[in-house]
Amino acid sequence: MSYGDGAVMAVPAHDERDFAFALKYNLPIKQVVAVDGETSFSHEAWAEWYADKQRGKLVNSGKYDGLGYEAAVDAIAADLAAKGLGDKKVQFRLRDWGISRQRYWGCPIPIIHCKTCGDVPVPDEQLPVVLPENVEITGAGSPLAKMPEFYECKCPKCGGDARRETDTMDTFFESSWYFLRYACPDNATAMVDERVAYWCKGGIDQYIGGIEHAILHLATSASRSPTC
Ligand SMILES: [Zn+2]
Repeated sequence: MSYGDGAVMAVPAHDERDFAFALKYNLPIKQVVAVDGETSFSHEAWAEWYADKQRGKLVNSGKYDGLGYEAAVDAIAADLAAKGLGDKKVQFRLRDWGISRQRYWGCPIPIIHCKTCGDVPVPDEQLPVVLPENVEITGAGSPLAKMPEFYECKCPKCGGDARRETDTMDTFFESSWYFLRYACPDNATAMVDERVAYWCKGGIDQYIGGIEHAILHLATSASRSPTC
């Protein structure tokens, strides 16, 4: 119940943990998904194919019999919507994302802190904020916060003395969009152009690089579900 706002569903035949739970407490286990060529559904023992979303087709499900996984979800969701009982919704597990890191590598966060004006974005014409190269990395604390030549600056708004942000961005932040550049690598004046719309039409289907990477990359690229 702690996951999203959903209700707990009782479909023990097609989820390994629910199956084990139902078996232990003698709850009925009704098969509602069949896979061609697999005839050995048993209420006594779990088999991997029970949860096969690629090959599974609905059975014992009335008008939804014969539908595959995605078609079944769509059909049931459409019927619920028609009755005013529910709708499809994307549930993100990532609600807040602290992007700042107290370390050297990573893109500097382009913000200037002014006592008078508050937090002021670095103006476009002063971008990018470039990391200093004479950095001393000791392993203790943020190296940039020990470099006045990096953080001492003027406020872009009032011109008064100000302090440059010394945290750098989480590298996930950059890698959420860097791959868009591959769609237009020869553009010398802009990072991306209209070719991105062609190559990324409908979202990114696949991102190879580990699921913990993929969720953050794809959550920010208006994607359909990743398949890696
Ligand atoms: Zn100011």
